[in-house]
Amino acid sequence: MKLPPSIQIMFLGAAADRLDTPGLIVCFELMAAPLRNRFARTHVWRIRAVLRYPRIAESSSVNGGSVSHAAIPSPPLYTVPIARPSRHYGGLMSVRRSYDVIVIGCGGIGSAAAYWLARAGASVLCLEQFELGHHNGSSQDHSRIIRRSYHDPNYTVLARPAYELWDQIEQESGVHLVTKCGGLDFERLGTTGPKDLSHCAAAMTEQGVPFEELDAKALMERWPQLTLDSDVRGLFQPDGGLVDPGKSIAVHVALARLHGAEIKESTAVTGLKSTSAGVEVVTSGGTFGAQHVVLTCGAWTNDLLGHLGLRWPLTITQEQVTYFATPHIADFAPNRFPVWIWRAPTEFYGFPVYGEVATKAGQDVGGPEVTTETRTFEPDAPTRQRLVDFLLQTMPGFVGPELYTKTCLYTMPPDRNFVIDFVPGYENVSVVADAAHAFKFATLIGKIMSELALDGATGYPIDAFRADRPALTGDFAPIFRNEAVMNHG
Ligand SMILES: Cc1cc2nc3c(=O)[nH]c(=O)nc-3n(C[C@H](O)[C@H](O)[C@H](O)COP(=O)(O)OP(=O)(O)OC[C@H]3O[C@@H](n4cnc5c(N)ncnc54)[C@H](O)[C@@H]3O)c2cc1C
Repeated sequence: MKLPPSIQIMFLGAAADRLDTPGLIVCFELMAAPLRNRFARTHVWRIRAVLRYPRIAESSSVNGGSVSHAAIPSPPLYTVPIARPSRHYGGLMSVRRSYDVIVIGCGGIGSAAAYWLARAGASVLCLEQFELGHHNGSSQDHSRIIRRSYHDPNYTVLARPAYELWDQIEQESGVHLVTKCGGLDFERLGTTGPKDLSHCAAAMTEQGVPFEELDAKALMERWPQLTLDSDVRGLFQPDGGLVDPGKSIAVHVALARLHGAEIKESTAVTGLKSTSAGVEVVTSGGTFGAQHVVLTCGAWTNDLLGHLGLRWPLTITQEQVTYFATPHIADFAPNRFPVWIWRAPTEFYGFPVYGEVATKAGQDVGGPEVTTETRTFEPDAPTRQRLVDFLLQTMPGFVGPELYTKTCLYTMPPDRNFVIDFVPGYENVSVVADAAHAFKFATLIGKIMSELALDGATGYPIDAFRADRPALTGDFAPIFRNEAVMNHG
């Protein structure tokens, strides 16, 4: 029987809306989700329980207008897929429930993967070892740079769909995530080696991305907040800016749940077993089965790969950013000052006032190598001092009393390029290594992971991010700085 899902939902939802009973109302929605993935038949029946708000009659004022709550259709508070015909994982009794796809890790990329998978109609479980929005990994903060100015066209080419998909997520959620304050790349002539601003300019020219090249005088005329030596030049890209990682994760989680995904926090994966029948995922909260598993585990990637007998040469460093309570907040507001990267052997980057009433800046790869066990949350004073010295020289008004310094983990393959691929030897497990500059691409990478899991391939150009490249499999001297220094942000 093929009934349009929306009719079923509207009928039952409308019935609930007409009730004036105080307290929460539970109603059941029967939904036919058309699936287009390689695990499913054409339609899948799914029943979900929906808690609805009681109708509230009083009016309130929203942005100067008057809104009657009773006139607003009551939204689902929580959606629980409680039944679905699914393929049983290998007939194993130990498996509590099986899914099309299990995503391990609910940071920036895992939350996006869960959303895109659920949106495509797959049954999805996303497992996070800590609470959602925790500060132990790589994603939690107010801002990450988004830009098209990469020295390598492999990234510039992905920037266009990344911007488009962020736009789509903003439309679907109604939450503002990307602030286009412009992006400035600086370089002191002769200090950044072969992969300098001209490579960024070439990559953007190739992709038809508008940008301006400015000398020191022109830079200081446009941004009097800068104090530059005459041998500094800059490259300005108007739609550079920042994406809000904390909100992005929350939005992906919310939308993933809206599309039926289950997100389990405080549930650590402690074992993985892949067979031709599927993948068994052992967790602190029981064992689950899936046709496919997506690993988006950031600094913990090798722990998960270890269950599959693999280990990659990933380097984890403890980095930090400092928020400065500058008194010159208007001069550094997003409409007056861009995000910026100072490309040099010691590279710095920064943000206008956003998220806090403060500017924010950090040094790229400025921190020590750590493991997930040895990392601390203690800021490093010399690193902060290097940053302050640099800022006082180049943009003195940016600095103010330190609001706080926040630590964060980088996870870098030796060439500092992403890994986006199936795990070698396992066609039912795929993996992302983020190379410490992936947040701007988080929703796009989530979509790519959904396509790899559901369709077995993606149309996005990711060949450069293969898991079998020499940087991961052979002897390869790490280049986190020098050439790779251009990768920050
Ligand atoms: C200081 C700093 C500045 C940065 N600046 C930029 C920038 O300007 N622009 C940019 O694009 N990128 C930037 N990045 C990089 C970007 O933030 C990361 O690439 C991105 O956040 C990585 O997301 P992720 O989902 O891979 O990792 P994470 O957010 O760390 O998520 C991995 C998740 O997996 C979970 N997990 C791990 N193991 C298990 C397990 N066994 N069971 C269950 N859950 C598990 C972890 O708890 C974690 O929540 C920056 C990073 C840092 C640290």
